[in-house]
Amino acid sequence: MDLVKLKEFLDSQNLPAFRFRQIVKNYYSGRYANFDQMTDLSLSLRSQLSSQFSLYSVVEEKIIGDQSTQKVLLKLEDNQKIESVLMNYDDWITACVSSQVGCALNCQFCATGKMGFIRNLNPEEIIDQIIYWNQKISPSFVGRVVFMGMGEPFLNWDNLLAALEIINSSTGLNIGARKISISTAGVADKIIEFANLDTQINLAISLHSTNQSFRETIMPIAKKYNLEELKKACLYYVNKTNRQLFFEYALTDKNTSQNDAQLLANFIHSHHLFFVNLIPLNPVEDGLDCATKEQQEKFMNSLDQLGIIYSLRRSFGQKFSAACGQLATNK
Ligand code: SAH
Repeated sequence: MDLVKLKEFLDSQNLPAFRFRQIVKNYYSGRYANFDQMTDLSLSLRSQLSSQFSLYSVVEEKIIGDQSTQKVLLKLEDNQKIESVLMNYDDWITACVSSQVGCALNCQFCATGKMGFIRNLNPEEIIDQIIYWNQKISPSFVGRVVFMGMGEPFLNWDNLLAALEIINSSTGLNIGARKISISTAGVADKIIEFANLDTQINLAISLHSTNQSFRETIMPIAKKYNLEELKKACLYYVNKTNRQLFFEYALTDKNTSQNDAQLLANFIHSHHLFFVNLIPLNPVEDGLDCATKEQQEKFMNSLDQLGIIYSLRRSFGQKFSAACGQLATNK
């Protein structure tokens, strides 16, 4: 819901300030499907609100999944569509949210990039994905949020920060900073700005290769921010925040040689707070090929020998194209 417009409307009706806070609280609680259900408001106010505002900016178009992973296609007010994923296999139920419709970065292995960039999501559209899931799974609720859906969060900076504030606020969705993670393809100057925010929100970097020329071929953003610059920004981040920094590395048949392991080790050894998350590449049309089991094992053996600590992420949701890098709405 557009809170600026709501405030303007309530002011124009000379309603006291607490009404605004009350409606916003109802909205964030996710307990109301529409204004009519807000029986703590007068009937006339409810009907005025219903006629002028939509409580949520996202509408469910299609939902698929199983017990561990669900993926929803959500329609926005301008009929654009985004996908959002819910993962329920850990201690915490995790919502994987989108930050943009499409993405400008065009990483070769990611389905979202193949759609091109359409537009940024506004803060409500980001938050409403979480409220949507809270409503869906009530009385359970989302405990963790990861910005690993469609889009590059650091290229939607202002709206990302506005959304984070509400997600994290005790008068908003009240999700602790340590339960929130942002993933970036490596927008180096924003990594520095993020470090300067002094927040406990987690950061992950989509690295995928530490060979500059190969990284450029699979992640065009590497031409703008090369590995040296990216590493400098990452070192700034860990030195400033003293927090661990996670590097996502999808295992393909082209980035898992002995030499790749050595280059990755050199990069990761630059700081003791650098960690690697390996993930077998999820298949995407016209994308890269996943490393074979044998290639994966060889690569991990090489990393072991080089003294690299890593975790191997399990992949969920492939069946419904709900896994990392598989979100797109032009299919
Ligand atoms: N633009 C941001 C967030 C979206 S991608 C970023 O690039 O980080 C979310 C995560 O999915 C990132 O870690 C990304 O590297 C990973 N990813 C993208 N495509 C993938 C694929 N085909 N298989 C596995 N992981 C993928």
